[in-house]
Amino acid sequence: MRAELVSVGTELLLGEIVDTNAAYMSQRLAEIGVDVHFRHTVGDNLRRIVSVLELALSRSEAVLICGGLGPTQDDLTRESIAEVTGRPLRADPDAERRLREFFARRGYTPTPNNLKQATVPDGGILLENTCGTAPGVLVQLDDDDRPGRVIVAVPGPPAEMREMMQREVIPRLTELLDGEPMAVYSRVLRMADIGESSLVAEIDDIISEQTDPTIAPYAHPGEVTLRLATKSASEEEARRRLDELEQRLRERVGQYIYGVDDETMEVAVGNALREAGATVAVAESCTGGLIASRITDVPGSSDYFLGGVVAYANEIKQRVLNVPHDTLVEHGAVSEPTALAMATGARRLYGSDYAVATTGIAGPGGGTEEKPVGLVYIAVADSEGTVCLEQNWPGTRDQFKRRVSQNALNMLRKRVLGTGVG
Ligand code: AMP
Ligand code: MG
Repeated sequence: MRAELVSVGTELLLGEIVDTNAAYMSQRLAEIGVDVHFRHTVGDNLRRIVSVLELALSRSEAVLICGGLGPTQDDLTRESIAEVTGRPLRADPDAERRLREFFARRGYTPTPNNLKQATVPDGGILLENTCGTAPGVLVQLDDDDRPGRVIVAVPGPPAEMREMMQREVIPRLTELLDGEPMAVYSRVLRMADIGESSLVAEIDDIISEQTDPTIAPYAHPGEVTLRLATKSASEEEARRRLDELEQRLRERVGQYIYGVDDETMEVAVGNALREAGATVAVAESCTGGLIASRITDVPGSSDYFLGGVVAYANEIKQRVLNVPHDTLVEHGAVSEPTALAMATGARRLYGSDYAVATTGIAGPGGGTEEKPVGLVYIAVADSEGTVCLEQNWPGTRDQFKRRVSQNALNMLRKRVLGTGVG
């Protein structure tokens, strides 16, 4: 089943709100095997909504609209469906009764505008809204040129939309899918130490000969992911196909895969530390606490995380972490000797098995010819000694911090696993 989503609301076009509903609806539809081919955003304008619906209905079996079901003048979804289907709006006595009861419970009388919400295009049905006043609408067409095509409208407020999708829309669409729902199952392989283009070059042949499961690479700051997706009537069959492809990819690029699905870098680090029965502390300058924050995003991180210092000022690097004054004067705060001294200092201060330190120039100011914006030193200390990497990641402060935290966590992970750093 091909589907198109139509998000209605001028506030979406003005960028005042973000279309989170479309993302949610896409995800739910993918789970039951509905292929969303197009998504549209249209303002509160009858003519334009109708033109989008006409286009969508001309080529897709299902059209899902969200928003514009409210009681006001600019809520035009109902009217648009009536127009595009050629079916006039009629009052639905049950819905009208429910609406009157809803208002009565709050001590109000509904206005004619409110009662508009209890109308439905001829032959359509209203979908119950358990969290608000606007019922949804479902109309199935029987025109010669669009037989069986279905239009569904759900309210704009996200909580109401989600509830209605879950309770009403997904079950009905599943039924229309002919009892043999083909769901999409996916798996995400997370990679470090390789960029998107190098990765794609290494598995180019696998990607191009692959039609199911599909392989989609995505680049994020500090990591690349591969999303493997397959359509299947059963979870076992899907798992078998995903396992097979994952195995093939591991044979080729397994050394870069650090985690699968929800196993983010902070989770992978936690698993490695817990497995080793080891603890860690951090000393962060340019990452400003992000590494500690990410480590503690993982439930149970108290098993291995002892604490950390945000040593931003040189004085703190000296006083708290014992970085020698001479090191700072001779090499500067952003240097390998400083990073190493910070890691050693944090390890001693906290009595941890491992310590990670970062010092760098996040920018946009503060760079020099010799030490440009983006330069960073990441050090890890353990009982064997210390290691340090010099890297350069120009970009926004956000990207820089995210990337440096990712690489620092990865370096720690590899050190704990004993797979070498570099
Ligand atoms: P409406 O049903 O068009 O009256 O929308 C009611 C409210 O729901 C809007 O004011 C928004 O706050 C929210 N809303 C509508 N459409 C969306 C959407 N696509 N994504 C997220 N929120 C939405
Ligand atoms: Mg609206």
